[in-house]
Amino acid sequence: MSEGNVYLCAWRRRGDEYEIFLLENPSLREQGSDLDELRISLCERIVLWNGDGEALLEMAPPITEDLAEGCRLYSELSYNNKVKIFNSGSLYAGGYCQKCRFAIGPRSESEIEIDKKPKSPVVGVGGILPVLEIYSAAFVDLLAQHAEHDIQFRDVLCKGKKSGYVEAISGCEVGHVGMVGAEYPESFSRSWRCTECGHVEFSVYVENMGGLSRFVSEESFHHGYPPAFLLNSGRFLSIAVRADVWAKMQTDKRARGVASESVIVLQKEFVEMPMSLPEPDEFDWIL
Ligand SMILES: [Zn+2]
Repeated sequence: MSEGNVYLCAWRRRGDEYEIFLLENPSLREQGSDLDELRISLCERIVLWNGDGEALLEMAPPITEDLAEGCRLYSELSYNNKVKIFNSGSLYAGGYCQKCRFAIGPRSESEIEIDKKPKSPVVGVGGILPVLEIYSAAFVDLLAQHAEHDIQFRDVLCKGKKSGYVEAISGCEVGHVGMVGAEYPESFSRSWRCTECGHVEFSVYVENMGGLSRFVSEESFHHGYPPAFLLNSGRFLSIAVRADVWAKMQTDKRARGVASESVIVLQKEFVEMPMSLPEPDEFDWIL
């Protein structure tokens, strides 16, 4: 059995207790009040079951019950396989920063060219910063079926031909934010600023939320909460889907193997931006 597979989990809540189980094997189930512990126990049982030591659990539907009142939840799409890009040099109008290697300026008109045809609905593109995501045509159809969004897509090429995958084009993406009272861990260069180009990347640690979390501000949205938007988190450009919309999509076969990470919309009084981020001694860790 390969590793790093995505497993859809159903869940129930009774009082303070959760019960979660694998949809494809309901005998693998755990019960208790600490969701993080339940996830760890379930992953340990998956190893014993099929040998997958890097299982990714995807709750179906996303768990929104623990959110503070007024907060909304999105699911940031993630992937467990990657392709490499051939033509990173022509993709950004300003090229790349000599120091931190992140792209400068807007996306050019060039299409991405990749080295092999991907298999999963959502795939990461390696060899370029920011890390881009590409999406299968079937997945984009599924998204359109459930979400009236304004994300623009552009074809991705493989060996000079259309690959059947598309890239979400940046230009109107939403940036992530910090939270009042949060920490911005600097270890492993999680939070930093480049003095050459001004690029900033940061992770947000909130103790009572169980660790690193991703947030966006309610002020990013002017006409209610959109069903999907393009999220720029400094290192990754990825589509985030509103939890209720993702709940309708995630069991469709066109979304098979897609994992997600939670993104919480904060009310404006809780939003802050980390002000003084350090520059790493070296940027050689970055690619
Ligand atoms: Zn830079």
